[in-house]
Amino acid sequence: MSDVLLVIENVSKFYPISGQTPRRVVGSISFDMRPGEALGLVGPSGAGKSTIAKMILGLERPDEGTIFFMGKDICRLSGKARREHFRRVQMVWQDPTVYLNPYQPVLTSIVEPLAAFGLCPADRRQERGLELMEMLGLPASLGRYKPSQLSGGQCQRVAIARALAVSPRLLICDEALVNLDLPQQVAIILLLKKLQNEMELGILFISHDRDTVRALCTTTLRMNTDGTLHDEAWPNHESRLAACR
Ligand code: ADP
Repeated sequence: MSDVLLVIENVSKFYPISGQTPRRVVGSISFDMRPGEALGLVGPSGAGKSTIAKMILGLERPDEGTIFFMGKDICRLSGKARREHFRRVQMVWQDPTVYLNPYQPVLTSIVEPLAAFGLCPADRRQERGLELMEMLGLPASLGRYKPSQLSGGQCQRVAIARALAVSPRLLICDEALVNLDLPQQVAIILLLKKLQNEMELGILFISHDRDTVRALCTTTLRMNTDGTLHDEAWPNHESRLAACR
């Protein structure tokens, strides 16, 4: 079980349309990830990529199929185990300014999840926040700035620091670099590679841009516009699935 981080097995999602039969936005998808693996998910806009991310996070439930994370069926989690899942899977969205508190210094935003999950004594949080900032290549002096006072790349680094604060096993980056210029994209990709190796961090990297994905991920899955996977024969999926059980 320890060599499989995530197993997606025949997962489908339907969304209701008023007065019509529900529309399938994710169609019977199967794939898996090992701990510390960087997997790319590419596809056109509307292909269902973010919906997959939301189902892995536990924000949406699959209508068909199962999702195992660290050996557990995430749809069966409740109470403490569900909370632990919310810690172990973290997300970096496209625009960090939407979810970083605009009135709060970014260092406060970085350490907030530590308090929420009770992970670090209160008198150590500030120090831990500064360690995370250093890890992400952010000068400590930026900690007192508000998100609007930082560049797009700096804001995205803050968002990654905040996500990593709770020591996740899987980081989902959903179009996380799309608003950045090329040098910033390259810098963050190099940073993610480093973190992936140092922390054995699984990264599911979602993008419509295949070149960006290739720069980070050794394996890439392609989605079709109808929510199915282009790569039907996902290599070794069956044996990896067996290892998970
Ligand atoms: P992608 O991330 O590949 O751009 P999404 O997963 O965001 O695609 O969306 C897939 C499809 O599902 C889109 O057509 C979108 O409009 C639709 N969709 C997403 N969320 C909902 C929702 N909550 N209710 C109804 N339709 C939705």
